[in-house]
Amino acid sequence: MSKAIIEYVKAQYPEGFIPMHAPVEQFEAQMSAYTGAAHTTAVVNGTSGIHIALHVLDVGPEDAVITQPLTFVATCNAIAYTGALPLFDDVDEDTMGLSPTALAAYLEEACQLDGTQCRHKATGRLIKACLPMHTFGFPCRIQELVALCERWCIPIVEDAAESLGSRVGDRHTGTFGRLGVFSFNGNKIATAGGGGAVVTQAVALGQRIKHLTTTAKQPHRWAYRHETLGFNYRMPNINAALACAQLESLPQFLENKRQLALAYQAFFATRTEQLLWERAGTSANFWLNTLRVSSSAVRDSLLMATNEVGVMTRPVWELMTDLPMYQNCPKGPLPNATLLSQQIVNLPSSVRL
Ligand SMILES: *Cc1c(COP(=O)(O)O)cnc(C)c1O
Repeated sequence: MSKAIIEYVKAQYPEGFIPMHAPVEQFEAQMSAYTGAAHTTAVVNGTSGIHIALHVLDVGPEDAVITQPLTFVATCNAIAYTGALPLFDDVDEDTMGLSPTALAAYLEEACQLDGTQCRHKATGRLIKACLPMHTFGFPCRIQELVALCERWCIPIVEDAAESLGSRVGDRHTGTFGRLGVFSFNGNKIATAGGGGAVVTQAVALGQRIKHLTTTAKQPHRWAYRHETLGFNYRMPNINAALACAQLESLPQFLENKRQLALAYQAFFATRTEQLLWERAGTSANFWLNTLRVSSSAVRDSLLMATNEVGVMTRPVWELMTDLPMYQNCPKGPLPNATLLSQQIVNLPSSVRL
């Protein structure tokens, strides 16, 4: 939080009065303009954003949702909040995101089309959504996933929590699927302290999300009337003011991240460790710089040596399929996710480095 940002927030509250709407609406307009989405709903965090996205696609306790095992636990928890069963398919080695090749094989083998619905044969459940994630801000093969899922009648929700500023061609991640979800948590490339945003090209669907995340209250000058189950997932205005300020700084953050990534690239060019890079035709935000080493033993000694001297390197998340609450979920073969989970080291990636 720079001084300029604090000034910006102060300017939102000229008389010490917390306004009810203005910063949230400004933030939503800024997000739509920045991502090219037709509609944005600001929400309290990314996790609730994914939850509401699945909820409006009618995902419920009888259903299943496909996702990747290499992700932050929030992706999977949001599926679990709907009561649906997560199904796991492998990631691509280069993008670390859901693999269209693995998904196509899994759909062929384990699923069938019933009219315009896709059914998971072993459990009899309908697959109501596919939830790929743009890992560390590197865009996954989202266009291939969209084409594949269209053939199988499965809507896509993009977990774009880590990919604000990342694009495929000129198009922003999060705008390829039916819905896309961003996070403004404290550790992300732009933060609101906490916060999230759900974007879509389908304006009516976006308006429904706005309604449901604000307790489904019908507009009226004084009466309280709620015609369906709603959620209090609205982003507080104080956070929205921070988010607006951070969005204004985002181009500078992206530039700093890229300069840092280029410095790492120059350093690792002559070494055996592999620095992961954006795929041709895409631009990453380089939220977290990612090194791939040859084994978990090498990873562990690298983690030990760097953290000893105060360099904050980190391993990747444990696979979702190894967590107690998701270990019995159906899954395809996961060779890439398994290798990556043992070989990744994230490097210090602050915009101030
Ligand atoms: C951060 C993150 C989320 C959740 O966002 P919050 O705002 O922390 O709830 C979801 N998915 C992924 C991949 C994330 O990195």
